Order: sequence, then structure tokens, then C-alpha cells
Amino acid sequence: MPDKYHIKTRPVPPRRPRIGRCGVVDWREDCAGCHNCVKRDCVFDRYREEAAYIRDMREMDSLFFQCMGCFSCVQQCTKGLLSLSLNPVYERLGNGYWTPQMIETTWTQAETARIPVSGAGYRGPFSGTGFDSMWTDMSEIVRPTRDGIHGREYISTAVDIGRKPALLQFEADAARDRLPPLVDIPIPMIIDMMPQGYRLPNLPAVFKVVAAQTGTIAIVDYNEWDLLGNDLEQYLPNLAAYIGPSAPAPAAGMLRKMRLVEVGDGDRLEQRIAELKAVNPDIVVAVRIDLDAHGVERGIELAGEPYIEALHLVADVNGSELNSGSPRFVKDMLRQVHTSLVQRGIRNEVTLIAGGGIALAEHMAKQIICGADLVSVNLPLLIALECTLCRQCNDGLSCRAGIREIDTDYGVGRMTNLVAAWHDQLIEVMGAMGIRDVRRLRGEAGRALFYEELEEATFGKLFGKRRNG
Ligand code: SF4
Ligand code: SF4
Repeated sequence: MPDKYHIKTRPVPPRRPRIGRCGVVDWREDCAGCHNCVKRDCVFDRYREEAAYIRDMREMDSLFFQCMGCFSCVQQCTKGLLSLSLNPVYERLGNGYWTPQMIETTWTQAETARIPVSGAGYRGPFSGTGFDSMWTDMSEIVRPTRDGIHGREYISTAVDIGRKPALLQFEADAARDRLPPLVDIPIPMIIDMMPQGYRLPNLPAVFKVVAAQTGTIAIVDYNEWDLLGNDLEQYLPNLAAYIGPSAPAPAAGMLRKMRLVEVGDGDRLEQRIAELKAVNPDIVVAVRIDLDAHGVERGIELAGEPYIEALHLVADVNGSELNSGSPRFVKDMLRQVHTSLVQRGIRNEVTLIAGGGIALAEHMAKQIICGADLVSVNLPLLIALECTLCRQCNDGLSCRAGIREIDTDYGVGRMTNLVAAWHDQLIEVMGAMGIRDVRRLRGEAGRALFYEELEEATFGKLFGKRRNG
């Protein structure tokens, strides 16, 4: 049996004061000085931490908001002097899609590499938009296989990128045709280029090390190749150059050491792929397709072409269809491409990589259920470096989180921790679903519940179809 995939992690504390959700307001004036003060009973020891924080305060404009909001001290203070307050800075994090909770949980995973535990139950809405309108079926959670998923049991999260033949033909005990090349990676996630506006110059050099340490692949725009540093050679198997529709190909010596390369969709696609293959027949070429109004149709059309090995379908950072007034969500677009390829009987031949809107580990599992073989991730890795998604860099302003000044060790540690935490969560989800191989999870829509379908089945007969459903 091969060695288990394992990512080495270590705690990497934040450089800046933490931005938590809750703080305690303590009206000390009327304090009775009880000898068994409830503050000493805080199981998270927040009062002592707050005192230490104030003693060593480094930034005057950052208050201590690290309370877990359990209400224990608030409810038990005999004089009712304690109350909780919400941190206005926390509430301004992110945007409508990247919620403060997503950002905070990403920071915690990047620091500790642990699976986030929310505790105290879930008090949010039953369903929402985007990935929140589907639920994974955890009904296998009681099976014994669940017990050892991080120990004895083997759950594979490995995927292959490349073209698979529809059937194998043999001659004299050997495959008749040369099998197409495959890139195998141990986790269904690759690192994508940062969206325009977030392309800080020191990030590609960090990505290359993270990709090597986690066994995955980082896509780097070939125009930014010189940002990767001088020690590039050893990292080439974990790097994929993105070549824009009219950009020149990388040098032959470099192409021969890469396993994957990505080209932008455009003219002369077949010829450009053939030119890359002529230099390195063992390289896999993925085609990047923007998920705009024509993205789904273009993906379906290209998947039927024999020279296509992998398609990278990319929505915007919020998972929305590009350039659309009423955008579709990336999971629905992927489902459409996947289902269409299944109906045409060609789904297994091509690899689908889904990008855009992947903010949490559960999104990776859900996108795979919707038909992707693997996902591409970018913004969560930036958030791992304490980015607040303030978008100042997008406007060309300085970064308040000081991301341009990070050292490589810190960046690699935080990003690697996040990938490890996501991997553990994927194993948790698959264990709970009774699935031992992530390749079996692909397109398993029967293992999920979709709000729109449930609503249609339950209320459709009474009220008709939702107009925008
Ligand atoms: S509400 Fe709970 S976590 Fe917060 S300070 Fe009080 S006891 Fe500690
Ligand atoms: S903190 Fe703001 S300025 Fe810095 S990288 Fe993040 S979005 Fe850009």
C-alpha cells in the first residue's frame, strides 16, 4: 500500500492583531468584587488574554475581540455588568459573497491547520444562495469506516488531470495505442493565478513552494514567470505556465520539465496545443475558458474535440458568471457542462477543473459533486496571509495587511496549513458520505440535496415554477 498522503504543518501565528467577532463590555463601576467572579470561569481564558493583550498592545487602533460568544459570563454575572458587543471591523470584512465568517475561519485554519469547529450549533438560515443551496448527504456518518479516516482507513483524494481513452485496445498483450499522459496530484485542488487586481508580486514565489510541499500544481502567468525567483528549476513539476491566447510559448527546456501547461481559449487552439506537445509529448495541456454567457456552450463544444485533455472553467471571484446582469452560479454552470457530457457519453474522456467562488473546503466537495474533477483556488490562499479583502490593492493602493512585506517562511506555512485543513475536511465529508475515492464523488448528485429541486418537488405543484428558479 502506498504511503498515506500527509501534509506537514506547524502553527504559524498571525503578524497582526486578530480581528474577532465578539468582545465583552465590562461596566466595572458597580462591580461587587465577588470572590468567585465569572470572568475566571471563562473556559477560553479570554479575560486573562485580554489583560495580557492590553499590556503588550502593539497597535493602538485594535481592540481585543476574541470572545467566543458563549454568553456564560454575561448570563452569570450577579450584577449583570457584562455584555457582548460585535466588532464593527469584523462586520466590514469581505463582501456579500466572502463573508466575515469565511475570512475568520480561513485565518484560523491558516494559523493552526485544524478543522474549524463552530460549536454552539448553527443558528443561521436553512439555505442560501450559491453553494449554500445544496447540502451533502452525511447519512453514512454512523458507519464504522468513519472511525479511522485519519488513521487506519484509506480514503483517496488523488485525481488525474488529462485525457482518458474511452476504451483500451490490446495487441499482443500490450495496449495498441500510446496512452495519453496524465498528471496525478494527491488532492483535488490546484492553485490558480490571482485575479487581476490581487496580483501582488511576491505571491508566485510563495505559491511555487506551497505547491511543491502539498504535491499539487500552481498555475502562474507566463508573463509573470520572472517573479518565481532563481531557484525555479526544482519546482517546475509543480508549476504550470499559463499562456495567453496570443502569448509566446515558454522555452523548450522549461516545457520539458513541466507536467501541466494551460493555454487561453482562442484562435488556432488545436495548433497551439500541437506545438506544445511537439516539444513535450508527456505534458498535459489544459484550456482555460471564461464562464461568461458562452462559457458553458464553449466547454461542451471543446470537450468533444479529440485534442482536448482538460478544461479549466473559471467564473469570477464570487463564483458568478462573468459579464452578466443576472449571473448564473458556478456550481450550476458546472453541472450543466457535466450533465451534457454524460448524456453525450464523453464525460470520462476529459478533465474538468472548476475555478471561481471556492472559498471553503466544503465548496471543493460540492463543486466535485456538481461535476468537476478538481477545483482551482486563489483568494483563500491570499486570505490565509491575513488579507481582509479590503480591495485596496485592487485600486492600486497600499496593502493594510502588509502582504508585500511577508517573508516566504510565514507565507508558505500559512498557505500549507490551509491546504492541510481543507484536505482533512474533504476526508471528513467523504467519510461521512461513505465514499473512499474522490474520483467516485465526481457528479454524485444523488449524494446531495439541492434546494431548488426540493422546492420544486414540494411546492411546484401548488405554486408553479419559480420565475428565476
Ligand atoms: S462570553 Fe464566554 S467566551 Fe466570551 S468572555 Fe464570557 S465566558 Fe469567555
Ligand atoms: S488586505 Fe486589502 S490591500 Fe492587502 S492584499 Fe488583501 S485586499 Fe489587497
